[in-house]
Amino acid sequence: MSGKVIVITGASSGIGEATAKLLAKKGHKIVLGARREDRLKEIVEDIEKDGGSAVYQVTDVAKHDSVEALAKRALDTYSKIDVWLNNAGLMPHSTFDKRKVAEWDQMVDVNIKGVLYGIAAALPTMREQKSGHFINVSSIAGHQTHPGGGVYSGTKYAVRAISEALRQEEAAAKSNVRVTIISPGAVATELTHTITDEDLKPGIEQLYNEVAISPERVAETILFAMDTPADTAMNEILLRPTSQQV
Ligand code: NDP
Repeated sequence: MSGKVIVITGASSGIGEATAKLLAKKGHKIVLGARREDRLKEIVEDIEKDGGSAVYQVTDVAKHDSVEALAKRALDTYSKIDVWLNNAGLMPHSTFDKRKVAEWDQMVDVNIKGVLYGIAAALPTMREQKSGHFINVSSIAGHQTHPGGGVYSGTKYAVRAISEALRQEEAAAKSNVRVTIISPGAVATELTHTITDEDLKPGIEQLYNEVAISPERVAETILFAMDTPADTAMNEILLRPTSQQV
């Protein structure tokens, strides 16, 4: 079977959608996971119209069983998992005084636990195959923080810590499992739609309108990391719009 089997969480829009489409064009087989079935269905149809191969599984990454079902869908359809892209995430920025505790919970559940569940779902298969690649989406916010971004940054710092420990463990186990962190700056997607703090939203939207790059740029970066020869792992890639200052 030619082409890698690539599972993408958060594949219904933005970076996940752009990556699914680009990798399918390159001959890879894509398994898309997210909650919005109508969007997933449409993207699979677009990929198939273009001559590619893809399936979807409605997935809530905050639920362990749901992520296991996504891995099962990949194995039932394509019999292996070469790349698992932990991409699902949300960014409802707010200052702490707003006490948006439900949003804090959601970010921890999706941005951190979702990544852990992805690792739990795919690692046994990758160990058995003696090959595999986790690509975990962190952020520039995983390197620095700012008022209103404390919880989101915390989750993205966590993604980097989790990824680095996983990398060290797999290197020690000589499993040939690679780990890559992708840390983008502002990318024009639906990410800012989840912001409900009306004091912060206009400023963030203005920044995005001024500088954000297209999600295809991130997809190209993911492809680059994937295509590195198997004896080498791109451990982290930071990318920003050229005109983004911080
Ligand atoms: P989008 O909002 O366009 O995409 C987010 C994706 O995550 C959607 O497909 C959404 O699908 C999915 N998602 C959200 N909650 C869940 C859930 N519980 N279960 C499964 N899927 C879920 O934004 P981006 O493409 O920008 O975001 C992708 C990743 O990139 C995120 O991790 C984000 O933090 C990161 N990032 C983005 C940057 C940017 O500037 N855009 C910069 C740095 C990092 P659905 O709602 O259908 O479930």
